[in-house]
Amino acid sequence: MKTKLLITLCIFFAQLSFAQTKTLKAIRAGKLIDVEHATVLENVIILIDHDTIKAVGKNIPIPDSAQIIDLGGSTVLPGLIDCHTHITAQPSGDYYADIFRATQVDDAIMGTVFARKTLEAGFTTCRDVGARGFADVALRNAINRGAVPGPRLFVATLFIGATGSHGDISGFSPYLQWDLPRQMLGVADGIDELRKQVRYNIKYGADIIKFGASAGVLSEEESVGAPQYTQEEMNAIVAETKAWGKKACAHAHGTEAIKMAVKAGVASIEHGSMLDDEAIALMKQYGTYLVADIYNDDYIRTEYARLGYPDKIIEKEKLVGQVQRESFQQAVKAGVKIAFGTDAGVYPHGWNAKQFYYMVKFGCTPMQAIQAATINAADLIGNAKIGNIKAGCYADIIAVKADVLKDITTLENVAFVMKGGEVFKQ
Ligand SMILES: [Zn+2]
Repeated sequence: MKTKLLITLCIFFAQLSFAQTKTLKAIRAGKLIDVEHATVLENVIILIDHDTIKAVGKNIPIPDSAQIIDLGGSTVLPGLIDCHTHITAQPSGDYYADIFRATQVDDAIMGTVFARKTLEAGFTTCRDVGARGFADVALRNAINRGAVPGPRLFVATLFIGATGSHGDISGFSPYLQWDLPRQMLGVADGIDELRKQVRYNIKYGADIIKFGASAGVLSEEESVGAPQYTQEEMNAIVAETKAWGKKACAHAHGTEAIKMAVKAGVASIEHGSMLDDEAIALMKQYGTYLVADIYNDDYIRTEYARLGYPDKIIEKEKLVGQVQRESFQQAVKAGVKIAFGTDAGVYPHGWNAKQFYYMVKFGCTPMQAIQAATINAADLIGNAKIGNIKAGCYADIIAVKADVLKDITTLENVAFVMKGGEVFKQ
């Protein structure tokens, strides 16, 4: 009797541990958003082996050994991609403490918290476009090793900016200096320094290069739209980046700076606040993506005074917020390529999906907004294994309970998150 019980228990625990380590999984999807063909499929099986999708279709035999995940009552779509985050930072509520008391070490630690929030919100990949002290590289590597839960990260490391620019620390005493290797500031001027800065960023782990083509909002230098590099300087940054087999993107609010960066050959314009017909035509001609963060204006206007930001910064936001949304609408109408990017870190991490509502309000169909955050984002990043649910892609899969094509805000409440075949939220 005892032996029989023992055997039964052994079998039970063996099955239990087997269930936990099953590498074959089959998802039953009630509805599946096919982002490649802009259509919705019904009653589809997604077969997953380890971290990769093996097959997708209606009549796929499910092996006995597979763990079945029933999402029959849900809409399933590829894990979302945010092409403009700052995952290692977020305003703490004390503007000067964030600049002068926090360090890259704080960023690295808080980055692990923000990464988890972002993943649980359904974002399985982020293109992270600017962090201090290579905290983004450390976070990316820890996530890739499986030590920390978070999205796949493609990181820009140091923002490259001219002296006194959006990328520099401006507005304070010239006697204040950071005790860092000069290049760790990302501040560089002239063709030789810029080429060296690109090499430095890539040497220490950059997947992409980000530079400031124009002035910015959340910094103390004056004007928002003015170009902050010459055409020759922008050309040098992009040429050097391409020589290393990588893509460059430009922070650009002002019309002239946008045109200069497009002509230099950037893969994407970040913000793109002040577009005109010529800028739109150039972006179409060069195939440049627009990554416009059109949600966060609401947050900056309502919360940044409370968070301790100086009036001059909030006033600058008022100059670009609405204009940016109108520019976005014009770009969508003209058929400029759109990739989803929110500037998460300007507002709380995990709220990334709030931007979908504005993208639909300002001209995208719900399907186009989803494509911007999946297949288009994957194209911009240059990785064919993300942003789609088909054989060969990573099993980065999310699900929502309601019909996302009827109500895009459904994406603000993602019910299921799988990244690389591993379930992080159910
Ligand atoms: Zn940004």
